[in-house]
Amino acid sequence: MDAPLLFLSAMLDEDERAAHTADSLRDEPVDALRVRYEPERVLREVAAKRRMLDRHTPRRRNVAGQDGRVAKITVCDWDNDDWPCADVLDLASVYADHPGYQAACRP
Ligand SMILES: [Zn+2]
Repeated sequence: MDAPLLFLSAMLDEDERAAHTADSLRDEPVDALRVRYEPERVLREVAAKRRMLDRHTPRRRNVAGQDGRVAKITVCDWDNDDWPCADVLDLASVYADHPGYQAACRP
């Protein structure tokens, strides 16, 4: 799997686990942040982001250079932009403070 997709998949797995953990602590005192990031909403967000990642996948494509030679580049299969595309980088930017962010998602 591609580095940005691996990174985002791992981050979504962490969000999902955190949401399930938070859901198990329902009897704890509620604070404003917990209300804002209620587990059910986080899980819906994780599912939506996974659907987006399923659409935005890398694809190798042949391109003709000015010298007539054919080169292969990697583009997004959804929007045909260079890989990783802006949508994938935007999704990853949420995790910019994570140690793995720079290596996986540097544009
Ligand atoms: Zn894309």
